[in-house]
Amino acid sequence: MAKKAKAKKLKAKNKRRRAPAKSDQRNAAQRVAAPSLTARRLAALESQKRTDDARWRAIADNPFMGITVVDNNQYFIMTNPAFQAMTGYTNDELRKLTPLDITPAAQREENRQAFVELQRGERGHYELIKQLVRKNGAPIWVQLYVFAVTDEVSGERQTFGMNFDITDKTQAQEALQNAQAELARSTTASRMGAMAASIAHEINQPLTAIVANAGAGLRFIARTPADLGETRTILEKIVQDGQRAGDVIHSIRAAFRPQETSRGPVDVNQLINEVLILMRGELESRAIFVKTALDERLAPVTANRGQIRQVFFNLVTNAAEAMDAVTDRTRTLMVSSARGDNGEVGVAVEDSGTGIGADQAEQIFSSFYTTKADGMGMGLSICRSIIEAHGGRLWATPGAQHGAIFRFTLPR
Ligand code: ADP
Repeated sequence: MAKKAKAKKLKAKNKRRRAPAKSDQRNAAQRVAAPSLTARRLAALESQKRTDDARWRAIADNPFMGITVVDNNQYFIMTNPAFQAMTGYTNDELRKLTPLDITPAAQREENRQAFVELQRGERGHYELIKQLVRKNGAPIWVQLYVFAVTDEVSGERQTFGMNFDITDKTQAQEALQNAQAELARSTTASRMGAMAASIAHEINQPLTAIVANAGAGLRFIARTPADLGETRTILEKIVQDGQRAGDVIHSIRAAFRPQETSRGPVDVNQLINEVLILMRGELESRAIFVKTALDERLAPVTANRGQIRQVFFNLVTNAAEAMDAVTDRTRTLMVSSARGDNGEVGVAVEDSGTGIGADQAEQIFSSFYTTKADGMGMGLSICRSIIEAHGGRLWATPGAQHGAIFRFTLPR
């Protein structure tokens, strides 16, 4: 019995030994779990890093932006596939080149200067629009953003370039500008053509009067005694008519003179008078009453005469067309000029036509905006680009009661 009891005691003791206390169980669990948690964290971090790396690689491999890294000696040390596609060179070929090697000669100095300033740390970044020469010699335009970073390990200053190919956009802009210039020429030509009839009418009137008055003069002289008083009056009329015809011819010659590309002193009042003389027949036939208030203190402006004349001519033509529909009030065209405080010249063309809404005042300057059945919608946009190219402004406001007022300024 005693033996049995002893064996039972021993079994219980062993059992206690084999079954650790609950707290021991927890500690052991922690001991096992601790390394596995770190491993999990590490694995998660590594997976996160792999994902981040993959994202950065996707950014570097993007098809839109050419990315380059250039070393201290200005050689490409890394380029992405987009840049290789833009230039037609492989990465290895590019590594033997510097950015200046694929820059047109005319732009090299400017580029070199900017690069040197960046390398010296005189500036942190720069951006420019420049040309690159592809491997096959074709030029491309890029919008380039460049910044420099000092490498933490080597201490070397490396330059990063982000290149956006804007060749298509640049070519589209050029094509639009050429089209605008072409259109401006043809618009002027066709309007000038339409004017030929009214010019003929303008010259015919004084010529007919001259012939009639000369006939009358001959009759006065043939009287006995000759009526010298009447003859004198008639000769004065002939001189006036002759001068009027001369004015018209002078204006026509000015209008048809080949477009000067250069700028010179322009007397804006004289230009206004010239165009109004040319258009007199047309304005009269539309029953338009013309008023002018020209400031005699105007100083000449430096401008391209042909272009400014084209602007004024377009504004007057638009004003005349805007009054076609008016039947319940006088069709009045008011042209005024004024000298600004800084010597700049301001011109206003005011009509009593259909007018423009305040919300239309900007829209009408957009290319191809027109409310006319046969309109092109290019006139005002061309006018604005001409005036702005001269450093001036062109804008429109609704008239006080009716119609519209178009104003432009030209700096002295
Ligand atoms: P287009 O004469 O071919 O329409 P423009 O660029 O010269 O092209 O004019 C654009 C539009 O601006 C016109 O269609 C017209 O709606 C408006 N506009 C221009 N001038 C006047 C004006 N004096 N009064 C009212 N509207 C005008």
